[in-house]
Amino acid sequence: PLPIVAIVGRPNVGKSSLFNWLAGRRISIVDPTAGVTRDRVSTVIEVGDRFCELMDTGGMGIQDKDDLTADVENQIRVAIEQAAVVLYLVDIRDGVVPLDEEVARRLRTVGKPVVFVANKADTDRIGTLGGEFNRLGFGDPIRVSAEQKLGRQELLEAVLPVL
Ligand code: GDP
Ligand code: MG
Repeated sequence: PLPIVAIVGRPNVGKSSLFNWLAGRRISIVDPTAGVTRDRVSTVIEVGDRFCELMDTGGMGIQDKDDLTADVENQIRVAIEQAAVVLYLVDIRDGVVPLDEEVARRLRTVGKPVVFVANKADTDRIGTLGGEFNRLGFGDPIRVSAEQKLGRQELLEAVLPVL
């Protein structure tokens, strides 16, 4: 079995968009409204000279799409039980919101390597934002844009050593 890289983060940060971008095709549902109920979504991707199974955990098995806490709890459970690496995603345009802090707090208990990534850095100017993410305890996030397809190499280079 390949090591599983689980994408974790509060709803709407772009987990499914990142998943589809790295997968190179549209597998996971991208939804402008938070939370979509569906089964486990995963695909094999190449990272450097290795392979791993990328998993989009958001909204998985969640019945009530407005129950954000249940979604986060579920993601953390998947991370604990299945992930080799957690890809923790935040939204650079929103900055730190309380649910990001909650996810960060839970991730510290997971005991798996975390690659911290800030999505929606669509332009260089937006990419300069996000200094406050440091206080979540995972350092300065790697800037990417799933929409503009920016930062893929930097992201994969961060995942490779912890795979
Ligand atoms: P998820 O709930 O974390 O899976 O987030 P989604 O992938 O469903 O995306 C939520 C919203 O953010 C959608 O409207 C996406 O089009 C948008 N989005 C995702 N990635 C980016 C990005 O890199 N830049 C911008 N501007 N929007 C994005
Ligand atoms: Mg999603």
